[in-house]
Amino acid sequence: MAKILVVADIKQGVLKSSTTELLSKARALGAETAVVAMGSGIAPLAPELAKAGSDTQYIADDASLELFSAGPYAAAVVDAAGQFGADMVWFGFSESSKAVAPRVAAQLDAACATEITDVTLGDTVEVIRPAITNKVLQRVKINTDRLVAVVRAGAFEADEGITGSENVVQLAAPAPDTKAVVREIVSDTSGEIDLGDADIVVSVGRGARNEAGVELVHELAKDLDAAFGSSRAMVDAGFMPHNKQVGQTGRIVAPSLYMAIGISGAIQHLAGMNGSKVIMAVNKDPEAPIFNVADYGIVGDLFEVVPILREEIQKVRS
Ligand SMILES: Cc1cc2nc3c(=O)[nH]c(=O)nc-3n(C[C@H](O)[C@H](O)[C@H](O)COP(=O)(O)OP(=O)(O)OC[C@H]3O[C@@H](n4cnc5c(N)ncnc54)[C@H](O)[C@@H]3O)c2cc1C
Repeated sequence: MAKILVVADIKQGVLKSSTTELLSKARALGAETAVVAMGSGIAPLAPELAKAGSDTQYIADDASLELFSAGPYAAAVVDAAGQFGADMVWFGFSESSKAVAPRVAAQLDAACATEITDVTLGDTVEVIRPAITNKVLQRVKINTDRLVAVVRAGAFEADEGITGSENVVQLAAPAPDTKAVVREIVSDTSGEIDLGDADIVVSVGRGARNEAGVELVHELAKDLDAAFGSSRAMVDAGFMPHNKQVGQTGRIVAPSLYMAIGISGAIQHLAGMNGSKVIMAVNKDPEAPIFNVADYGIVGDLFEVVPILREEIQKVRS
């Protein structure tokens, strides 16, 4: 039986749903599962980590781990992988996993596959990863004994009926990183929902033209408790900050609902959102490429359509 260690994604003390998604997939593959969690004051999350589908919880809880630092976090994952005898270590996609996964792979002498969307076990392990802005799917055969994988957001579904069992192993605090010391982490203080956490994302494109257009689409996002995203055109024009850009050179999102408002659907934008479960587009051009990927499309002027959508949403919500 394969042994899969999932690296818990914890943000400000809250366990992210990606952890359950990865554990659900690992269990669906018939693997033995464990989870490793690092941070300060995170030990009380053990029952939740078990409920998310792990049978062993390796926990590195130490004040020195309060601020994310790639070296010590990687050391804790390597420690857990060794104790568990992991064949695979899975990370959900995040800025921190991008930094930790290659370090773990190097230390475990494992292959490192990033942005994967599927895994099959058998005589050999194979992973699927979209490449060239999602135009092709690579099927990659893993020739090493161990695999470190970073899973694309939304690639695996959480199994709500899943549960594991509590069996906590405390890890020793890893040595601090002397080469790079993280002094402070400044987070987004806007109070906006992060693109990576959102169940609904509403994104604005050049069709919104100006600040008033951006604000109109922003109001729609607020009505839906959605994260507010953007095409690169609106970032380049200075209407939206870069951390809101969705696409090849921005964030990759896979929410339940993605609404593209005044966005043409350039391949670089699609690369960041075409894994969304349902895509809805508003565009005045019936030939806009966004309609090729949209499940629902409204051909019309967003300045007329968005107020109608807002009115209907408010009716339903009240
Ligand atoms: C290397 C590279 C990386 C890139 N990375 C990214 C990336 O990460 N993310 C990204 O988004 N782009 C990226 N781009 C840019 C990308 O190619 C497009 O230029 C960009 O996505 C276009 O943004 P847009 O759809 O908002 O604008 P446009 O392509 O100009 O489309 C505007 C759309 O709005 C519609 N419209 C106009 N007026 C209205 C109205 N009143 N009502 C309704 N619809 C209206 C138009 O019909 C049109 O379809 C990248 C490009 C390169 C070369």
